[in-house]
Amino acid sequence: MEKKVLFNYIDGRFVAAEAASVEDVCNPSTGEVISRVPYSVPAEIDCAVAAARAAFPSWSRTPVSRRVKPLFDLAHEMHRREEELCRVLVREMGKSLPDARAEMKRAVENVEAACAMPLLQQGEKLVDCSADMDGEVLRMPVGVFGIIAPFNFPAMVPFWFIPYAVATGNTIVVKASELVPNTMQMLFEMMHAAGIPKGVVNLVNGDRVAAEALIDHPDVAGISFVGSTRVAALVAEKCAKTHKRFQALGSAKNHLVVMPDAKLDDVVRNMVTSCYGCAGQRCMASSAIVTVGREIHEQVVSRFVAASREVLAADPLDPKHENEGMLMGPVISAKNKAFIESMIQRGVEQGATLALDGRGLQVPGCACGHFVGPTVFTDVKPGMDIHTTEIFGPVVVILNVDTLDEALKIIADHQYGNGASIYTQNGYWARKFELEARAGMIGINVGIPAPVAFLPFGGTKHSAYADIKAQGRDVVRFFTEAKVITRRFWKED
Ligand code: NAD
Repeated sequence: MEKKVLFNYIDGRFVAAEAASVEDVCNPSTGEVISRVPYSVPAEIDCAVAAARAAFPSWSRTPVSRRVKPLFDLAHEMHRREEELCRVLVREMGKSLPDARAEMKRAVENVEAACAMPLLQQGEKLVDCSADMDGEVLRMPVGVFGIIAPFNFPAMVPFWFIPYAVATGNTIVVKASELVPNTMQMLFEMMHAAGIPKGVVNLVNGDRVAAEALIDHPDVAGISFVGSTRVAALVAEKCAKTHKRFQALGSAKNHLVVMPDAKLDDVVRNMVTSCYGCAGQRCMASSAIVTVGREIHEQVVSRFVAASREVLAADPLDPKHENEGMLMGPVISAKNKAFIESMIQRGVEQGATLALDGRGLQVPGCACGHFVGPTVFTDVKPGMDIHTTEIFGPVVVILNVDTLDEALKIIADHQYGNGASIYTQNGYWARKFELEARAGMIGINVGIPAPVAFLPFGGTKHSAYADIKAQGRDVVRFFTEAKVITRRFWKED
């Protein structure tokens, strides 16, 4: 049967795209075609930006209390249809249902946080900033923003931006990942039903051509991008050249440091979830374990490898397993699987010890799925490709050092700095790590230190080209321009 072709959403209506091509969207567990996604052409980006631009004057002057009203309704609808949304997400992305529920919870939390915009968007006032004068900072909406998303969090990542951009009085054009466009389509149906006025939110499906047209568009004031560092760097460069504001969050290689006093039962369980949840395709997934001391190293290796062998790999929508806490689904595509396997081969060639090999994994009923099993390398040295490169799959490298300072140096020398965590009961070591680890988000006995919606989210070094992070108050600053008023009135005669 012919599968549904997804729509763009422009100026308050779902419209068929005049796409250059229409591609299959496949379930990565089974290979089943779910829907078809149009690759929109630049003219369609023009239409979406024109609609957003036309809506801006009136939306930006709509009282903020009225701007957040549809967001309350949207949050309610997302809660009500959470399970349905999660199943759409799992079917196209391949993460487990519990992981999808956690993602959706965070997406809704961002909508709820943005509902506080009447408080968050308040400016500042300095009375008597000079003789008989007052100074005031207004936080003004800016214009049309483009939001470009990666495949691994089809709902949560775009929602680091969408509700805040809208609540602050801007208008937007979203380009979802072409690999997982069904979730965003459904979320736009909910935004439409929530009564967001026409032109305020727009959706264009497509690949890099659509993304580039959005980035290059002269009427776009700024871009919120999340994806690989390779593309983030291009986005940053293009936006800087065309005087656009930008946030460009990129790739990661997150380290877990295990100190000699770590509580190993809890730690191993925590590391397994961090490394293999979403098949290692979380931007906050850990993929490098650094043990401090020889004794703890031997214990970590044997216990972590044993626990990795036990990880269940299956179709996340298989009714037998769908509520399993630690279930590993497939990676997103055959191309990504081939890359991951090539990196495993590279690790072997460069002399690391392959303690557990996830290649060749067969999952019953999923002959066409893109599965890679848990893979662990030991005897890894900094500088080996399996340590320097983001593999974005269930491949974990274990390094060993003698001191915390050496572990901190490994983190500091790495090109990426998204998250880093330490496992210890020792307050001195924990504090030193908090202050000295070169990463944007730090965990203390927390393997996935992803901040809640009320706090900023973002890394450092080549993990983020931006001076303002996603979520919370930071993103409110991104979506508003500070206008500073200096005011005086002369004395009446
Ligand atoms: P990707 O960079 O391949 O694609 C991201 C988006 O950019 C997609 O919408 C894609 O269509 C578009 N795109 C691709 N090439 C482009 C180009 N040349 N110009 C403009 N747009 C282009 O990333 P992905 O594979 O979808 O996602 C995985 C990556 O995202 C990983 O590197 C992961 O670490 C990263 N990520 C980072 C964070 C973070 O918070 N730092 C969060 C989630 C994912």
